[in-house]
Amino acid sequence: SLQGKTAVITGSNSGIGLGVARELARAGADVVLNSFTDREEDHALAAEIAREFSVNAQYIQADMSNGADCRALIEKAGVCDILVNNAGIQHVAPIDAFPQDKWDAIIAINMNSNFHTMAAALPGMRAAGWGRIVNIASAHGLTASPFKAAYVAAKHGVVGMTKTVALETAEEPITCNAICPGYVLTPLVEAQIPDTMEKYNMGRDEVIKKVMLERQPSREFATVEQLGGTTVFLCSDAAAQITGTTLSVDGGWTAL
Ligand code: NAD
Repeated sequence: SLQGKTAVITGSNSGIGLGVARELARAGADVVLNSFTDREEDHALAAEIAREFSVNAQYIQADMSNGADCRALIEKAGVCDILVNNAGIQHVAPIDAFPQDKWDAIIAINMNSNFHTMAAALPGMRAAGWGRIVNIASAHGLTASPFKAAYVAAKHGVVGMTKTVALETAEEPITCNAICPGYVLTPLVEAQIPDTMEKYNMGRDEVIKKVMLERQPSREFATVEQLGGTTVFLCSDAAAQITGTTLSVDGGWTAL
C-alpha cells in the first residue's frame, strides 16, 4: 500500500494524469492534482478522489511551461514522495512549417518541466529516505513519427534525463523511471485526429485504424487505468531495483 505517501502528478485534471492520480489514490496515496487552470471543476476533481478513496487530495494550479511555477508546485505540495511528470501537449506539423512558439511550448511543458520538478523534489525525497519518480514519456521517446519533431525531441530528452537522475540517485532509496505509452485515447489524442485526417486525407475511423493503431500491433488503445497501474507498480517494493529504465505500455509498438 502507498498509505502515508504523497504523490504529485503534473497535468492531472484530464487523461492519463487523472487516471494515474486515481490509481495512486486507490493504492492509498494522498494526491496532488495539477494543471495551469484554476477552475471550480479542477478542485472538484480532487474532492471527488478524496471521497472515493478516503485519501487526502488537493488541486494546485501551476503552469508547467514556467520553471518557477514547476518548482512552486513542489514547494506548495509540502511533501512529494512520488513525483509523476505527466503534463504534456502535442503539435503536428512538418519541421519547415513548425511554429516556433509551439516548439518552445512543447519543449518547456513536455521536457523542461521534468528538470524543474525533479530538481525541486529530490531534496525532500532524500530527507524522507524514500522516493519514486515516474516520468510519462512516450513510444515517441524511443522511436519517431513524421510531423512530431518537437514532441519526439522532448520525449527522447525525458528518457535521457530519466537515466541521468537514476544514476545520480542510484545508491539511494529513490528510483527514477519513464513509462512509454503507445496510443491512449485521451483528449490529447482526440485533438490530433482532425490534423491527421487532413494530412493523410482520410476519415476519422481510417485515421484511428490505419495511422494510429497501425503502429500498435495489439490494435487496441492502452487505457489510463493501465498507465495508472503501471505507475503503482513502479512505486511498489517489487520495483525497488528498477531504475533508469523505460517501461513500454504500447501494445507491441516498439517491438516492431
Ligand atoms: P491530456 O491532454 O488529456 O492531458 C494533458 C494534461 O496536461 C492535462 O491535464 C492538461 O491540463 C495538462 N497540461 C497541459 N499544459 C499544461 C501546462 N502548461 N501546465 C500544467 N499542465 C498542463 O493528454 P494525455 O494524453 O493524458 O497526456 C498526458 C501525458 O501522456 C503527456 O505527457 C503525453 O505526451 C503523454 N502521452 C500520451 C499518449 C496518448 O496516446 N494519449 C501517448 C504517449 C504519451
